[in-house]
Amino acid sequence: MYTTDTQMLRMATREIISINPATMAEVGRAPILSAADVNLAVAKARSAQPAWAALSFEERARYMFKAKDLLLDRQDEICELISREVGKPMVEAMVGEVLPVANLMDYFARESAKLLRDEQFTLSVFRNKKSRISFHPVGAVGIISPWNYPFSIPTGEVVMGLMAGNAVLLKPSEYTPMAGLKIGELFRAAGLPDGILQVLTGDGSTGAALVESAIDKIFFTGSVRTGKTIAEAAARRLMPFVLELGGKDAMIVCGDAPFQRAVNGAVWGAFTNCGQACASVERLYVAEYIAERFINAVVEKTKSLRVGIDGEQQQDVGSLTNARQLRIVTEHVNDAIAKGAKALTGGKRITSLPGYFFEPTVLVNVNNSMRVMQEETFGPVLPIVVVKDEAEAIREANRSNYGLLASVWTKDTKRGKQIAAQVEAGTVIINDVMYTHGAAETPWFGVKESGFGVTHSKHGLREFVQMKHINWDVLPMKTNPWWYPYSEKKRRDFKLLAKVLHKWGLKKWI
Ligand code: NAD
Repeated sequence: MYTTDTQMLRMATREIISINPATMAEVGRAPILSAADVNLAVAKARSAQPAWAALSFEERARYMFKAKDLLLDRQDEICELISREVGKPMVEAMVGEVLPVANLMDYFARESAKLLRDEQFTLSVFRNKKSRISFHPVGAVGIISPWNYPFSIPTGEVVMGLMAGNAVLLKPSEYTPMAGLKIGELFRAAGLPDGILQVLTGDGSTGAALVESAIDKIFFTGSVRTGKTIAEAAARRLMPFVLELGGKDAMIVCGDAPFQRAVNGAVWGAFTNCGQACASVERLYVAEYIAERFINAVVEKTKSLRVGIDGEQQQDVGSLTNARQLRIVTEHVNDAIAKGAKALTGGKRITSLPGYFFEPTVLVNVNNSMRVMQEETFGPVLPIVVVKDEAEAIREANRSNYGLLASVWTKDTKRGKQIAAQVEAGTVIINDVMYTHGAAETPWFGVKESGFGVTHSKHGLREFVQMKHINWDVLPMKTNPWWYPYSEKKRRDFKLLAKVLHKWGLKKWI
């Protein structure tokens, strides 16, 4: 059973009605595709893919450059749509959606040929042997995406998938079908051949059908719960998968932090995208040495944030994107307050605005018995914990099932790197938050329950290819020494060889 906000879906007509969560006005409608629709699309993708894979990197890159040009020409229209569909400020749509995509398009269009170049080498022990590793498209790949960055997350994966020579089937979130369709429209306008990128709108049932279809690999970004369901389904048919899941990202503020930068970073990291970022600051640990001054400054800055509807008032923080998120955020804050936490600012829904608005909230006196410290809140809530020292901060930061990103704030970069090495997260940023998702060349991945596999960078690109290894002799020989017939002499010779190679350190001489 797949549930979502009742006002979004008209199940009877199998149609999504996308609404603006800030104003509750309708943004558009899109069909909920069935398993039969999905299977037809996959068949179309499979027949179109070989011709696409046969193009050179340069030829495929031309489509990316064209799509990038169109994106930059149509920035306002695209940002306006994103802003209306998820309730975020236009500046966030520009910074968090358009700019990163332009960067990813440019990077993978230029670099894919180099990043996927064949690797050839002579073997170290088997000196008469050479190997070549080459990288080939996986085939037809499925991308299932969330609603919080409805344009940049899926488009980044689409770009990598296409540049690697795959046909792509994209299932956008049921909360953001119009942004998903816009991605298809952009590539169509760039002249992409028919069937190479298909956008399959729908809900969880459409996503589940895609996972069960004849695709070759699935790339999922979303919640841990759905990620586990997808992993189970993929495992049943041994289909490879990449999972980019939730986070409970810790910010560690050391006693010697660059004070004002840390204050600004904490407030932006906690409240940008209304806190609905997998890598937003979800927990903050501050050294007691600067705690009081730091918390006061964070609260002052948070109070200055303008919450509102884009286009109607100047705003820094938009609305939450759906009713489910508003419910989770409200529950987490109420649970924390009931268990002794104190809201220094914020703490409740804004009822003077029509949509799903919640006050930017700073909580203190929080502890690990509270949901806000254990579960992903994904909203405008910043719980702050005062710690004795860095060692305690690291211990507390690691007390989580999640491990996506973390940040360490100190003027001493060397010390920052030492702390970063001990924090259990895919990425730890020193004196910054979150932004590396927008940098094409850096890998993005989670440890623990935050994910499996990588996106972005050459490591992410390589998730979209299948390796092929070919091995051959440099000089032809009638036989290999380890082939038949065996003898006592052969046994002694190999014993000696093992010592020469691996014990006496003579490997470099042969
Ligand atoms: P979600 O898991 O509810 O849905 C994600 C997508 O999965 C949607 O398109 C949905 O329709 C689809 N889906 C639902 N059930 C499915 C099923 N059984 N089979 C196949 N597909 C199915 O997540 P969400 O609420 O859209 O997104 C928020 C979550 O995403 C948060 O946990 C956030 O941290 C995470 N996220 C992670 C990253 C990252 O890079 N690690 C980035 C953004 C968001």
